[in-house]
Amino acid sequence: MSMVIHVVTLFPEMFSGVFGTSILKRARRDRRIDIRVVPLRTFGVGPHRQTDDYPFGGGEGMVLRADVVVPAVEWAMMHQASPARVLVTSPQGRLFDQRLAEELAQSEHLIIVAGHYEGLDERARLLLNAEEVSIGDFVLTGGELPAMVMVDAVARLIPGVLGAKDGARHDSFSREHGWLEGPQYTRPEEYRGLQVPEVLLSGNHQAIRAYQESMAELWTKTRRPDLLNPLSPEGTHDEGRDID
Ligand code: SAM
Repeated sequence: MSMVIHVVTLFPEMFSGVFGTSILKRARRDRRIDIRVVPLRTFGVGPHRQTDDYPFGGGEGMVLRADVVVPAVEWAMMHQASPARVLVTSPQGRLFDQRLAEELAQSEHLIIVAGHYEGLDERARLLLNAEEVSIGDFVLTGGELPAMVMVDAVARLIPGVLGAKDGARHDSFSREHGWLEGPQYTRPEEYRGLQVPEVLLSGNHQAIRAYQESMAELWTKTRRPDLLNPLSPEGTHDEGRDID
């Protein structure tokens, strides 16, 4: 059975380009993944299908209403038999990384709520037992881009989504060794005086593999030393941010 991801959003039109192009398009066509965009506006209240309101206690911006978000997520839950893991995009959440993408790729059903304006009423998060997820320490106008980032990172880990059988195995941060991947080259063999390293043209698979491993180690050492020893202070994963 393919994985189902529901994305609950005020702006469904933002998703058609990303979900309808390239690898995600093919994965959906081949039924490796079923991505369904749920328009929050459909669950809006009153004659104007209102989805947000002013924050109690004052302050700037609008807040997405719990009585709109909760029914939208419950609708998504009802339309898929497998139990859902519910995620809410938020700059205050657990940092999204390859480890979390790998964990989520094991799920049969994900529901991602894309926040907007000032975010959503805290009661929606509590009632839905939702996990907040951040894609980095910066603030965007909405959770649509973070939702796309998460879906993309998760989808490419589903078996068969990438062309090669183990296409993601050697990628940076992968479960295999957690390092960065080294440099890549393609034709021409020489460009503006720069040559492709000879070993890559040698046809000697063992030597090529050894070269790639050594480059991966070098790049990891110089660019992200924290990845070599994940238990060192600068390599400690920031899990304390998961507020529950
Ligand atoms: N008032 C919120 C705060 O200070 O934490 C920021 C709200 S932000 C303007 C609007 C929405 O964009 C958030 O509710 C969230 O859904 C999304 N968002 C913004 N930055 C994000 C990030 N780094 N990761 C995930 N979602 C983000």
